[in-house]
Amino acid sequence: MSVLEKVSSQNLIELEDKYGAHNYHPLPVVLSKGEGVYVWDVEGKRYYDFLSAYSAVNQGHCHPKIVGAMIQQAQTLTLTSRAFYNDQLGPYEEYLTRYFGFDKVLPMNTGAEAVETAIKITRKWAYEVKGIAEKQAEIIVCDGNFHGRTTTIISFSNDENARKNFGPYTDGFIKIPYDSIEALEMALQSSPNIAGFLVEPIQGEAGVYVPSEGYLSRAKALCEKYNVLFIADEVQTGIARTGKLLAVDHENIKPDVLILGKAVSGGVYPVSAVLANDAIMNVIKPGQHGSTFGGNPVAAAVAVAALEVVKEEKLAENAHRLGKIFRSKLAAYTTNSKIATLVRGKGLLNAVVINDTEDSDTAWNICMALRDNGLLAKPTHGNIIRFAPPLVMNEEQLLDCVSIIIKTLKQFE
Ligand SMILES: *Cc1c(COP(=O)(O)O)cnc(C)c1O
Repeated sequence: MSVLEKVSSQNLIELEDKYGAHNYHPLPVVLSKGEGVYVWDVEGKRYYDFLSAYSAVNQGHCHPKIVGAMIQQAQTLTLTSRAFYNDQLGPYEEYLTRYFGFDKVLPMNTGAEAVETAIKITRKWAYEVKGIAEKQAEIIVCDGNFHGRTTTIISFSNDENARKNFGPYTDGFIKIPYDSIEALEMALQSSPNIAGFLVEPIQGEAGVYVPSEGYLSRAKALCEKYNVLFIADEVQTGIARTGKLLAVDHENIKPDVLILGKAVSGGVYPVSAVLANDAIMNVIKPGQHGSTFGGNPVAAAVAVAALEVVKEEKLAENAHRLGKIFRSKLAAYTTNSKIATLVRGKGLLNAVVINDTEDSDTAWNICMALRDNGLLAKPTHGNIIRFAPPLVMNEEQLLDCVSIIIKTLKQFE
């Protein structure tokens, strides 16, 4: 195809529609370039990215240091499998474990795989360390959770769309309301077979639900009391998104099992990880779990660069500072708005609640208007719009974005 016959957005949308499974419902915008906080569509229009690929692109699009690390490693050695050692994995494992303060890491690729890995480690620990009888281990999860899309993970989802006709489901999960310490304690008391408590420090997909202050630290203390592993799914909240390196850092707690994904690679390559100390991680022995691509040299090189960027560019501090400005500006607007009732979040993981029913398309229509006004965001759970720009944004850009959002909301008053 020559440059002159450059295909239009419409053509490209039709191609995806015809040849791709319809497992997503994208906003109609076709992107072909990204840099920092910006993306461009195939017609050359520029947008602010306020989704950051579900918080995978915290370091900004095509960060030169991360892309550079990828190019260099891709030209040198890409994949050995774990049948052999490679010269990138050990240094990455040392870097990552020191960075987050754990003894060991088990490297995987996607977030869902890392959640599966954490579940398997937790169950094995329950049988081999805690002494639960075979096949009896249970893991407590929360209503409204999102942990990925595998058969086991959707088994304990509340999202009917994610579950329906994908059964039979995996047993061994107890669901409790999110942000209820009482419910957690009751569940912990209900059975001697509880192995772990799997929780998102902020429920991102559910609509950026921030639990009450003290919830996570009290939950961690309860887990200690009942000898149950506290498993934090920080796939979306981790890597500086909420204004700290991890969202659990807001309450100064250390999970027993930490799950990371998305921005571990700055959105350049699928990299996920499960971290734990030896007493837990050592239950996994050769042959018991793995992945062909997990811990490959490109992933290792990319992740080290992506995590260095987080520290060098002080992304947590920036997310904290800009998040406060974002919420105060938006809150000033929502107090007198009929269409937007609430802004909530932490750092640069925020959401605006739209005043309409869950099944209305108002939030979608607002996102279409935001697109036309040069800013990309997506509704999550019907009437909630998540706002999560790359953390490399500066204050001037943020204020520009706030004015675009307010201008757009005004069109709907
Ligand atoms: C995105 C996400 C996952 C799943 O990650 P994938 O890479 O899409 O498999 C798991 N947990 C949370 C909290 C997430 O936001």
